[in-house]
Amino acid sequence: TEACLGEIESAGALNAFVHNTPEIARTQAAAADARIKAGDAPDMCGIPLGIKDLFCTKGVPSQAASNILKGFKPEYESTVTSQLFDAGAVMLGKLNMDEFAMGSSNETSAYGNAVNPWRRDGSETALTPGGSSGGSASAVAADLCLAATGTDTGGSIRQPAAFTGITGIKPTYGRVSRWGVVAFASSLDQAGPMTKDVRDAAIMLEAMCGHDAKDSTSADLAVPNFEAMLTGDIRGKTIGIPREYRMDGMPEEIEKLWAEGTEMLKAAGAKIVDISLPHTKYALPTYYVIAPAEASSNLARYDGVRYGHRAKLAAGDGITEMYEKTRAEGFGHEVQRRVMVGTYVLSAGFYDAYYNRARKVRTLIKRDFEEVFAAGVDAILTPATPSAAFGLGEMSEADPIAMYLNDVFTVTVNLAGLPGIAVPTGTDSQGLPLGLQLIGRPWEEGDLLNTAYALE
Ligand code: GLN
Repeated sequence: TEACLGEIESAGALNAFVHNTPEIARTQAAAADARIKAGDAPDMCGIPLGIKDLFCTKGVPSQAASNILKGFKPEYESTVTSQLFDAGAVMLGKLNMDEFAMGSSNETSAYGNAVNPWRRDGSETALTPGGSSGGSASAVAADLCLAATGTDTGGSIRQPAAFTGITGIKPTYGRVSRWGVVAFASSLDQAGPMTKDVRDAAIMLEAMCGHDAKDSTSADLAVPNFEAMLTGDIRGKTIGIPREYRMDGMPEEIEKLWAEGTEMLKAAGAKIVDISLPHTKYALPTYYVIAPAEASSNLARYDGVRYGHRAKLAAGDGITEMYEKTRAEGFGHEVQRRVMVGTYVLSAGFYDAYYNRARKVRTLIKRDFEEVFAAGVDAILTPATPSAAFGLGEMSEADPIAMYLNDVFTVTVNLAGLPGIAVPTGTDSQGLPLGLQLIGRPWEEGDLLNTAYALE
Protein backbone atom coordinates (compact mmCIF):
# COMPACT_ATOMS: atom_id res chain seq x y z
CA THR A 1 0.00 0.00 0.00
CA GLU A 2 2.75 2.46 0.90
CA ALA A 3 4.65 1.66 -2.31
CA CYS A 4 1.51 2.26 -4.38
CA LEU A 5 0.72 5.52 -2.59
CA GLY A 6 4.26 6.67 -3.44
CA GLU A 7 3.87 5.65 -7.10
CA ILE A 8 0.56 7.51 -7.34
CA GLU A 9 2.26 10.68 -6.01
CA SER A 10 4.97 10.52 -8.64
CA ALA A 11 2.70 9.56 -11.54
CA GLY A 12 0.40 12.59 -11.42
CA ALA A 13 1.00 13.23 -15.14
CA LEU A 14 -0.95 10.07 -15.99
CA ASN A 15 -4.07 11.65 -14.42
CA ALA A 16 -5.22 8.12 -13.58
CA PHE A 17 -6.27 8.74 -9.96
CA VAL A 18 -8.68 11.64 -9.49
CA HIS A 19 -9.26 11.36 -5.71
CA ASN A 20 -6.63 9.82 -3.45
CA THR A 21 -7.74 8.19 -0.22
CA PRO A 22 -4.47 7.52 1.66
CA GLU A 23 -6.10 7.62 5.13
CA ILE A 24 -8.67 5.00 4.15
CA ALA A 25 -5.92 2.94 2.50
CA ARG A 26 -3.71 2.98 5.60
CA THR A 27 -6.60 2.08 7.91
CA GLN A 28 -7.70 -0.79 5.66
CA ALA A 29 -4.09 -1.97 5.24
CA ALA A 30 -3.59 -2.06 9.02
CA ALA A 31 -6.81 -4.05 9.42
CA ALA A 32 -5.69 -6.44 6.68
CA ASP A 33 -2.36 -6.84 8.42
CA ALA A 34 -4.13 -7.83 11.63
CA ARG A 35 -6.24 -10.38 9.76
CA ILE A 36 -3.17 -11.87 8.12
CA LYS A 37 -1.45 -12.14 11.51
CA ALA A 38 -4.56 -13.78 12.95
CA GLY A 39 -4.49 -16.33 10.14
CA ASP A 40 -7.82 -15.12 8.71
CA ALA A 41 -6.78 -13.77 5.35
CA PRO A 42 -8.95 -14.14 2.24
CA ASP A 43 -7.19 -13.87 -1.13
CA MET A 44 -7.83 -10.14 -1.54
CA CYS A 45 -6.54 -9.33 1.95
CA GLY A 46 -4.21 -6.32 1.89
CA ILE A 47 -4.34 -5.95 -1.92
CA PRO A 48 -4.21 -2.23 -2.88
CA LEU A 49 -6.81 -1.39 -5.51
CA GLY A 50 -7.95 1.58 -7.53
CA ILE A 51 -11.72 2.06 -7.81
CA LYS A 52 -13.36 3.50 -10.92
CA ASP A 53 -15.15 6.78 -10.16
CA LEU A 54 -18.44 5.17 -11.30
CA PHE A 55 -18.65 3.15 -8.04
CA CYS A 56 -20.31 4.79 -5.06
CA THR A 57 -17.88 4.74 -2.17
CA LYS A 58 -19.21 5.90 1.16
CA GLY A 59 -18.08 9.40 2.14
CA VAL A 60 -15.64 9.55 -0.79
CA PRO A 61 -16.29 11.70 -3.89
CA SER A 62 -18.01 9.54 -6.53
CA GLN A 63 -18.62 11.76 -9.52
CA ALA A 64 -18.70 9.46 -12.56
CA ALA A 65 -16.15 11.97 -13.94
CA SER A 66 -18.99 14.45 -14.40
CA ASN A 67 -19.38 18.05 -13.28
CA ILE A 68 -23.03 17.36 -12.54
CA LEU A 69 -21.98 15.16 -9.61
CA LYS A 70 -19.43 17.65 -8.29
CA GLY A 71 -19.22 17.32 -4.55
CA PHE A 72 -21.36 14.17 -4.40
CA LYS A 73 -20.28 11.90 -1.55
CA PRO A 74 -22.56 8.87 -1.30
CA GLU A 75 -24.07 7.82 2.01
CA TYR A 76 -23.54 4.19 1.05
CA GLU A 77 -21.05 1.75 -0.42
CA SER A 78 -21.62 -0.13 -3.69
CA THR A 79 -22.06 -3.88 -3.31
CA VAL A 80 -18.90 -4.56 -5.32
CA THR A 81 -16.68 -2.31 -3.23
CA SER A 82 -18.15 -3.51 0.04
CA GLN A 83 -17.55 -7.14 -0.99
CA LEU A 84 -13.96 -6.30 -1.94
CA PHE A 85 -13.39 -4.46 1.35
CA ASP A 86 -14.94 -7.35 3.31
CA ALA A 87 -12.42 -9.59 1.56
CA GLY A 88 -9.66 -7.33 2.91
CA ALA A 89 -8.91 -5.22 -0.18
CA VAL A 90 -7.51 -1.72 0.25
CA MET A 91 -8.78 1.37 -1.61
CA LEU A 92 -6.05 3.75 -2.78
CA GLY A 93 -8.46 6.18 -4.44
CA LYS A 94 -10.86 6.80 -7.29
CA LEU A 95 -9.93 6.38 -10.93
CA ASN A 96 -10.50 8.53 -13.98
CA MET A 97 -12.98 7.49 -16.69
CA ASP A 98 -15.11 8.90 -19.48
CA GLU A 99 -18.03 10.97 -18.16
CA PHE A 100 -20.78 8.53 -17.10
CA ALA A 101 -18.71 5.83 -18.86
CA MET A 102 -19.60 7.23 -22.28
CA GLY A 103 -16.53 7.13 -24.48
CA SER A 104 -13.62 5.08 -25.72
CA SER A 105 -10.65 7.37 -25.04
CA ASN A 106 -11.17 8.87 -21.58
CA GLU A 107 -11.41 12.27 -23.28
CA THR A 108 -14.98 12.97 -22.18
CA SER A 109 -13.89 13.06 -18.50
CA ALA A 110 -14.59 16.27 -16.58
CA TYR A 111 -11.16 15.77 -14.98
CA GLY A 112 -9.37 15.76 -18.34
CA ASN A 113 -8.19 12.49 -19.83
CA ALA A 114 -5.98 9.86 -18.23
CA VAL A 115 -2.83 9.03 -20.22
CA ASN A 116 -1.56 5.66 -21.40
CA PRO A 117 1.83 4.84 -19.83
CA TRP A 118 2.86 3.25 -23.16
CA ARG A 119 4.48 5.22 -26.03
CA ARG A 120 5.11 4.28 -29.64
CA ASP A 121 8.77 3.33 -30.17
CA GLY A 122 10.87 6.49 -30.41
CA SER A 123 7.86 8.77 -30.00
CA GLU A 124 6.76 11.07 -27.22
CA THR A 125 3.17 11.40 -28.50
CA ALA A 126 0.78 10.84 -25.60
CA LEU A 127 -1.69 8.02 -26.26
CA THR A 128 -5.14 7.29 -24.92
CA PRO A 129 -5.45 4.47 -22.36
CA GLY A 130 -8.84 3.75 -23.97
CA GLY A 131 -12.17 4.15 -22.27
CA SER A 132 -14.28 4.37 -20.48
CA SER A 133 -12.21 2.62 -17.76
CA GLY A 134 -9.08 4.47 -18.94
CA GLY A 135 -7.89 5.51 -15.48
CA SER A 136 -8.19 1.90 -14.27
CA ALA A 137 -6.16 0.62 -17.23
CA SER A 138 -3.50 3.31 -16.94
CA ALA A 139 -3.13 2.78 -13.18
CA VAL A 140 -2.75 -1.01 -13.44
CA ALA A 141 -0.38 -0.82 -16.42
CA ALA A 142 1.81 1.77 -14.65
CA ASP A 143 1.91 -0.22 -11.37
CA LEU A 144 0.08 2.44 -9.36
CA CYS A 145 -2.12 -0.31 -7.92
CA LEU A 146 -2.18 -4.10 -8.13
CA ALA A 147 -5.60 -4.19 -9.78
CA ALA A 148 -8.63 -2.00 -10.36
CA THR A 149 -12.37 -2.18 -10.78
CA GLY A 150 -13.82 -1.37 -14.18
CA THR A 151 -17.27 -1.35 -15.75
CA ASP A 152 -18.25 -2.43 -19.23
CA THR A 153 -21.40 -1.39 -21.10
CA GLY A 154 -20.05 -1.83 -24.62
CA GLY A 155 -16.36 -2.61 -24.14
CA SER A 156 -15.16 -0.25 -21.41
CA ILE A 157 -13.18 -2.94 -19.58
CA ARG A 158 -11.88 -4.86 -22.59
CA GLN A 159 -10.83 -2.02 -24.90
CA PRO A 160 -8.73 -0.12 -22.31
CA ALA A 161 -7.24 -3.44 -21.15
CA ALA A 162 -6.15 -4.17 -24.74
CA PHE A 163 -4.74 -0.63 -25.16
CA THR A 164 -2.54 -0.91 -22.06
CA GLY A 165 -1.43 -4.55 -22.12
CA ILE A 166 -3.46 -5.75 -19.15
CA THR A 167 -6.28 -8.30 -18.62
CA GLY A 168 -9.94 -7.35 -18.18
CA ILE A 169 -13.07 -9.47 -17.94
CA LYS A 170 -16.71 -8.45 -18.34
CA PRO A 171 -18.75 -11.13 -16.57
CA THR A 172 -22.11 -12.54 -17.67
CA TYR A 173 -24.89 -9.98 -17.18
CA GLY A 174 -26.23 -10.56 -13.66
CA ARG A 175 -23.04 -12.09 -12.25
CA VAL A 176 -21.90 -8.93 -10.45
CA SER A 177 -24.28 -6.63 -8.59
CA ARG A 178 -24.94 -3.24 -10.17
CA TRP A 179 -26.13 -1.80 -6.86
CA GLY A 180 -24.28 1.43 -6.09
CA VAL A 181 -22.71 1.62 -9.54
CA VAL A 182 -23.81 4.81 -11.29
CA ALA A 183 -26.14 3.60 -14.06
CA PHE A 184 -25.36 4.20 -17.73
CA ALA A 185 -27.39 1.58 -19.68
CA SER A 186 -28.85 -0.76 -17.11
CA SER A 187 -29.48 -3.75 -19.41
CA LEU A 188 -25.83 -3.72 -20.57
CA ASP A 189 -23.76 -2.51 -17.57
CA GLN A 190 -21.53 -5.01 -15.73
CA ALA A 191 -18.58 -4.43 -13.43
CA GLY A 192 -15.44 -6.54 -13.59
CA PRO A 193 -11.77 -6.69 -12.60
CA MET A 194 -8.86 -5.14 -14.52
CA THR A 195 -5.66 -6.91 -13.57
CA LYS A 196 -2.09 -7.72 -14.54
CA ASP A 197 -2.88 -11.29 -15.54
CA VAL A 198 -5.57 -13.96 -15.77
CA ARG A 199 -4.87 -15.44 -12.32
CA ASP A 200 -5.41 -12.06 -10.65
CA ALA A 201 -8.60 -11.63 -12.69
CA ALA A 202 -9.89 -15.00 -11.45
CA ILE A 203 -9.15 -14.15 -7.81
CA MET A 204 -10.64 -10.67 -7.93
CA LEU A 205 -13.70 -11.69 -9.96
CA GLU A 206 -14.63 -14.26 -7.33
CA ALA A 207 -14.61 -11.54 -4.66
CA MET A 208 -16.80 -9.26 -6.83
CA CYS A 209 -19.45 -11.85 -7.80
CA GLY A 210 -22.50 -13.11 -5.99
CA HIS A 211 -26.22 -12.71 -5.55
CA ASP A 212 -27.43 -9.37 -4.25
CA ALA A 213 -31.08 -8.84 -3.29
CA LYS A 214 -30.58 -5.10 -3.91
CA ASP A 215 -30.14 -5.67 -7.67
CA SER A 216 -33.22 -7.27 -9.26
CA THR A 217 -31.13 -8.56 -12.20
CA SER A 218 -28.51 -10.19 -9.97
CA ALA A 219 -28.35 -13.96 -10.51
CA ASP A 220 -28.83 -16.28 -7.57
CA LEU A 221 -26.07 -18.70 -8.54
CA ALA A 222 -23.16 -20.19 -6.64
CA VAL A 223 -19.82 -18.51 -7.29
CA PRO A 224 -17.16 -21.03 -8.26
CA ASN A 225 -13.55 -20.90 -7.15
CA PHE A 226 -12.35 -19.47 -10.47
CA GLU A 227 -8.66 -19.69 -9.59
CA ALA A 228 -8.92 -23.43 -8.99
CA MET A 229 -10.24 -23.79 -12.55
CA LEU A 230 -7.00 -22.43 -14.07
CA THR A 231 -5.41 -25.68 -15.15
CA GLY A 232 -4.31 -24.46 -18.58
CA ASP A 233 -5.76 -27.69 -19.98
CA ILE A 234 -8.03 -26.84 -22.92
CA ARG A 235 -7.67 -30.14 -24.79
CA GLY A 236 -10.87 -31.06 -26.59
CA LYS A 237 -12.40 -27.57 -26.27
CA THR A 238 -13.95 -26.11 -29.41
CA ILE A 239 -13.01 -22.54 -30.28
CA GLY A 240 -15.05 -20.68 -32.89
CA ILE A 241 -13.58 -18.06 -35.24
CA PRO A 242 -16.44 -15.83 -36.42
CA ARG A 243 -16.06 -14.85 -40.06
CA GLU A 244 -18.08 -11.63 -39.67
CA TYR A 245 -15.38 -10.21 -37.38
CA ARG A 246 -12.94 -10.20 -40.29
CA MET A 247 -13.74 -6.60 -41.18
CA ASP A 248 -12.77 -4.84 -44.37
CA GLY A 249 -9.68 -2.73 -43.87
CA MET A 250 -8.65 -4.55 -40.70
CA PRO A 251 -4.95 -3.76 -40.07
CA GLU A 252 -2.62 -6.61 -41.00
CA GLU A 253 -1.17 -6.59 -37.49
CA ILE A 254 -4.56 -7.38 -36.01
CA GLU A 255 -5.10 -10.19 -38.56
CA LYS A 256 -1.69 -11.60 -37.65
CA LEU A 257 -2.35 -11.42 -33.91
CA TRP A 258 -5.66 -13.21 -34.38
CA ALA A 259 -4.01 -15.94 -36.47
CA GLU A 260 -1.26 -16.39 -33.87
CA GLY A 261 -3.82 -16.64 -31.07
CA THR A 262 -5.70 -19.27 -33.04
CA GLU A 263 -2.48 -21.26 -33.50
CA MET A 264 -1.68 -21.04 -29.78
CA LEU A 265 -5.06 -22.47 -28.81
CA LYS A 266 -4.71 -25.18 -31.44
CA ALA A 267 -1.25 -26.08 -30.16
CA ALA A 268 -2.76 -26.36 -26.66
CA GLY A 269 -5.16 -29.01 -27.95
CA ALA A 270 -8.29 -27.03 -28.83
CA LYS A 271 -10.32 -27.72 -31.92
CA ILE A 272 -10.69 -24.64 -34.13
CA VAL A 273 -13.87 -24.16 -36.18
CA ASP A 274 -15.09 -21.41 -38.50
CA ILE A 275 -18.40 -20.02 -37.33
CA SER A 276 -20.91 -17.43 -38.50
CA LEU A 277 -22.64 -14.78 -36.39
CA PRO A 278 -24.71 -13.27 -39.20
CA HIS A 279 -26.21 -10.30 -37.35
CA THR A 280 -22.84 -8.90 -36.25
CA LYS A 281 -23.04 -6.01 -38.71
CA TYR A 282 -26.10 -4.63 -36.93
CA ALA A 283 -24.48 -4.65 -33.49
CA LEU A 284 -23.03 -1.13 -33.45
CA PRO A 285 -26.20 0.64 -34.63
CA THR A 286 -28.27 -1.50 -32.25
CA TYR A 287 -25.99 -0.63 -29.34
CA TYR A 288 -26.00 3.08 -30.21
CA VAL A 289 -29.81 3.10 -30.04
CA ILE A 290 -30.27 1.00 -26.89
CA ALA A 291 -27.42 2.47 -24.81
CA PRO A 292 -28.43 6.14 -25.35
CA ALA A 293 -32.11 5.26 -24.79
CA GLU A 294 -31.36 3.74 -21.40
CA ALA A 295 -28.88 6.51 -20.61
CA SER A 296 -31.41 9.27 -21.30
CA SER A 297 -33.79 7.63 -18.86
CA ASN A 298 -31.14 6.94 -16.20
CA LEU A 299 -29.68 10.45 -16.40
CA ALA A 300 -33.07 12.14 -15.91
CA ARG A 301 -32.36 11.97 -12.17
CA TYR A 302 -29.63 14.65 -12.42
CA ASP A 303 -32.01 17.56 -12.07
CA GLY A 304 -30.18 19.96 -9.78
CA VAL A 305 -32.36 18.91 -6.85
CA ARG A 306 -31.15 15.53 -5.69
CA TYR A 307 -27.42 15.35 -6.33
CA GLY A 308 -24.35 17.45 -6.92
CA HIS A 309 -24.34 20.56 -9.05
CA ARG A 310 -27.07 23.20 -9.29
CA ALA A 311 -26.69 26.20 -11.63
CA LYS A 312 -26.83 29.75 -10.32
CA LEU A 313 -30.19 31.15 -11.27
CA ALA A 314 -31.19 34.61 -12.43
CA ALA A 315 -34.06 36.60 -10.96
CA GLY A 316 -37.32 35.26 -12.34
CA ASP A 317 -35.93 31.81 -13.24
CA GLY A 318 -38.35 29.01 -12.45
CA ILE A 319 -37.90 25.26 -12.12
CA THR A 320 -37.64 24.73 -15.90
CA GLU A 321 -34.73 27.19 -16.14
CA MET A 322 -33.15 25.49 -13.14
CA TYR A 323 -33.24 22.08 -14.89
CA GLU A 324 -32.06 23.50 -18.20
CA LYS A 325 -29.19 25.54 -16.84
CA THR A 326 -28.04 22.82 -14.43
CA ARG A 327 -28.00 20.11 -17.09
CA ALA A 328 -26.41 22.38 -19.72
CA GLU A 329 -23.58 23.26 -17.33
CA GLY A 330 -23.21 19.89 -15.67
CA PHE A 331 -23.17 17.48 -18.63
CA GLY A 332 -20.38 17.43 -21.20
CA HIS A 333 -20.96 17.29 -24.96
CA GLU A 334 -20.91 13.50 -25.39
CA VAL A 335 -23.37 12.98 -22.54
CA GLN A 336 -25.68 15.64 -23.99
CA ARG A 337 -25.47 13.95 -27.39
CA ARG A 338 -26.46 10.59 -25.86
CA VAL A 339 -29.37 12.13 -23.94
CA MET A 340 -30.65 13.76 -27.14
CA VAL A 341 -30.30 10.57 -29.20
CA GLY A 342 -31.91 8.57 -26.41
CA THR A 343 -34.92 10.82 -25.95
CA TYR A 344 -35.38 10.93 -29.73
CA VAL A 345 -35.43 7.14 -30.20
CA LEU A 346 -37.81 6.79 -27.25
CA SER A 347 -40.19 9.54 -28.36
CA ALA A 348 -43.73 8.51 -29.25
CA GLY A 349 -43.40 8.97 -33.00
CA PHE A 350 -40.10 7.11 -33.36
CA TYR A 351 -40.22 4.45 -30.64
CA ASP A 352 -41.24 1.63 -32.98
CA ALA A 353 -38.90 2.64 -35.78
CA TYR A 354 -35.80 2.85 -33.57
CA TYR A 355 -35.98 1.54 -30.03
CA ASN A 356 -38.36 -1.35 -30.63
CA ARG A 357 -36.52 -2.31 -33.82
CA ALA A 358 -33.20 -2.26 -31.96
CA ARG A 359 -34.64 -4.53 -29.25
CA LYS A 360 -35.66 -7.07 -31.89
CA VAL A 361 -32.28 -7.00 -33.58
CA ARG A 362 -30.68 -7.44 -30.17
CA THR A 363 -32.60 -10.69 -29.80
CA LEU A 364 -31.28 -11.87 -33.19
CA ILE A 365 -27.71 -11.05 -32.16
CA LYS A 366 -28.19 -13.02 -28.94
CA ARG A 367 -29.68 -15.93 -30.91
CA ASP A 368 -26.61 -16.05 -33.19
CA PHE A 369 -24.49 -16.79 -30.14
CA GLU A 370 -26.97 -19.29 -28.69
CA GLU A 371 -26.95 -21.28 -31.93
CA VAL A 372 -23.17 -21.41 -32.06
CA PHE A 373 -22.92 -22.53 -28.42
CA ALA A 374 -25.68 -25.11 -28.96
CA ALA A 375 -23.62 -26.51 -31.85
CA GLY A 376 -20.81 -27.28 -29.40
CA VAL A 377 -18.58 -24.19 -29.47
CA ASP A 378 -17.06 -23.51 -26.04
CA ALA A 379 -15.56 -20.08 -26.69
CA ILE A 380 -15.16 -17.58 -29.50
CA LEU A 381 -11.85 -15.88 -30.35
CA THR A 382 -11.80 -12.37 -31.88
CA PRO A 383 -9.57 -9.30 -31.79
CA ALA A 384 -10.38 -7.04 -28.81
CA THR A 385 -9.98 -3.77 -30.73
CA PRO A 386 -9.60 -2.75 -34.38
CA SER A 387 -6.26 -0.99 -33.64
CA ALA A 388 -3.65 -0.32 -30.98
CA ALA A 389 -4.00 2.74 -28.70
CA PHE A 390 -4.39 5.94 -30.70
CA GLY A 391 -3.05 9.42 -29.96
CA LEU A 392 -4.97 11.72 -27.65
CA GLY A 393 -6.91 14.19 -29.76
CA GLU A 394 -6.49 11.99 -32.83
CA MET A 395 -10.15 11.00 -33.01
CA SER A 396 -11.72 14.39 -32.68
CA GLU A 397 -15.09 15.05 -31.18
CA ALA A 398 -16.08 16.40 -34.59
CA ASP A 399 -16.73 12.82 -35.70
CA PRO A 400 -18.36 10.82 -32.91
CA ILE A 401 -19.01 7.88 -35.25
CA ALA A 402 -15.26 7.31 -35.74
CA MET A 403 -14.98 6.92 -31.97
CA TYR A 404 -17.98 4.56 -31.84
CA LEU A 405 -16.25 2.24 -34.35
CA ASN A 406 -13.76 1.33 -31.62
CA ASP A 407 -16.46 -0.80 -30.04
CA VAL A 408 -17.11 -2.96 -33.10
CA PHE A 409 -15.75 -6.20 -31.54
CA THR A 410 -17.01 -5.65 -27.99
CA VAL A 411 -20.64 -4.42 -28.06
CA THR A 412 -22.09 -7.74 -29.28
CA VAL A 413 -21.03 -9.33 -25.99
CA ASN A 414 -23.01 -6.81 -23.90
CA LEU A 415 -26.04 -7.00 -26.19
CA ALA A 416 -26.06 -10.79 -25.71
CA GLY A 417 -25.23 -10.60 -21.97
CA LEU A 418 -22.23 -12.92 -22.35
CA PRO A 419 -18.90 -13.01 -20.53
CA GLY A 420 -15.95 -11.63 -22.49
CA ILE A 421 -12.27 -11.26 -21.62
CA ALA A 422 -9.45 -9.26 -23.20
CA VAL A 423 -5.97 -10.77 -22.85
CA PRO A 424 -2.71 -9.10 -23.93
CA THR A 425 -1.19 -11.33 -26.61
CA GLY A 426 1.28 -9.25 -28.60
CA THR A 427 2.56 -5.89 -29.75
CA ASP A 428 2.28 -3.92 -32.96
CA SER A 429 5.23 -2.76 -35.10
CA GLN A 430 5.62 0.28 -32.84
CA GLY A 431 5.81 -1.72 -29.66
CA LEU A 432 2.27 -1.02 -28.45
CA PRO A 433 0.26 -3.77 -26.74
CA LEU A 434 -2.51 -5.58 -28.60
CA GLY A 435 -5.16 -7.85 -27.12
CA LEU A 436 -7.43 -10.66 -28.18
CA GLN A 437 -10.95 -11.24 -26.90
CA LEU A 438 -12.50 -14.54 -25.85
CA ILE A 439 -16.28 -14.75 -25.54
CA GLY A 440 -17.76 -17.53 -23.41
CA ARG A 441 -21.02 -19.26 -22.63
CA PRO A 442 -23.24 -17.57 -20.03
CA TRP A 443 -22.14 -18.23 -16.41
CA GLU A 444 -19.01 -20.09 -17.56
CA GLU A 445 -16.46 -17.45 -16.57
CA GLY A 446 -14.30 -20.20 -15.05
CA ASP A 447 -13.90 -21.99 -18.38
CA LEU A 448 -13.40 -18.68 -20.13
CA LEU A 449 -10.64 -17.67 -17.72
CA ASN A 450 -9.00 -21.05 -18.21
CA THR A 451 -9.00 -20.65 -22.00
CA ALA A 452 -7.58 -17.14 -21.58
CA TYR A 453 -4.93 -18.63 -19.29
CA ALA A 454 -3.84 -20.92 -22.13
CA LEU A 455 -3.50 -17.86 -24.38
CA GLU A 456 -1.52 -15.76 -21.92
N1 GLN B 1 -17.38 3.09 -25.81
C1 GLN B 1 -18.70 2.66 -25.54
C2 GLN B 1 -19.60 3.86 -25.33
O1 GLN B 1 -19.11 4.94 -25.43
C3 GLN B 1 -18.73 1.73 -24.37
C4 GLN B 1 -18.65 2.40 -23.08
C5 GLN B 1 -18.74 1.45 -21.93
O2 GLN B 1 -18.60 0.24 -22.07
N2 GLN B 1 -19.04 2.01 -20.77
O3 GLN B 1 -20.75 3.74 -25.07
